[in-house]
Amino acid sequence: MRPPPDREPGPLADRLAAELDALTVLWPAIVEARVPGSARRTRAVELSVQAREELDWLARMERHERADVAPGEAPVPIELDIVDLMTDVLADAVMLYDAVAEAAGVAEPLPPPSSGLADPRPYLGAAAFRLDRVDRQTLAWAAPILRGLTARVARALALADDGQVVAAVCPWCHGLSPQSPTGGGYTWKVHALPGDQIAILCWGLCEPPLRDVGTWWRGKPCWPMQQWAWLARQAAAAEQRRARTRRAS
Ligand SMILES: [Zn+2]
Repeated sequence: MRPPPDREPGPLADRLAAELDALTVLWPAIVEARVPGSARRTRAVELSVQAREELDWLARMERHERADVAPGEAPVPIELDIVDLMTDVLADAVMLYDAVAEAAGVAEPLPPPSSGLADPRPYLGAAAFRLDRVDRQTLAWAAPILRGLTARVARALALADDGQVVAAVCPWCHGLSPQSPTGGGYTWKVHALPGDQIAILCWGLCEPPLRDVGTWWRGKPCWPMQQWAWLARQAAAAEQRRARTRRAS
């Protein structure tokens, strides 16, 4: 059965779903960044496809809050602007999910988060999954909220600063570059392209097949942020294949 015309999935729904997925793969990097000096230029940003079961940051936060009332205890240093960002990502994820679930007529929506420090990824993922059933007004309302959130995350992780290294081995060139002639190097770097586009470029000796590359920038294969979730899955699948080969040999 065809959906009614104003509920047809379209490029906007696809793009928003890809942006929600990109936030999901960046979430662990945001969580890491709350420890001062951890992410942000000083180390490679990680794209994660695994849901880490229990992140330790909640425990650290609780210790931090306790330290406020117990002067003898040294507080755990925490980047408070990142913690603000984390609670905002959760709040926006829940708001977007609630609107999408309502517009898509989800019978049993996800319950609200247990706390302001909960993991937003279930809401991001569930919202992305239902976007193709949502009317255009809801999509148009969600687009600027998501764009603003993505921009804040990109700023917080210093993604817009040229040259941030991504901790992943490129599945196409296998990390082969003049700096790592036997492969296995981190050849992906984040770059800010004209038009506020943030993209990953591969600086290895890299020629992916056309269907696997978003676009090219100065002769380098280039994947804009909307493709990062897909990119992270490709890198994870290649890593699993390498691990299997290592075990077999
Ligand atoms: Zn490559």
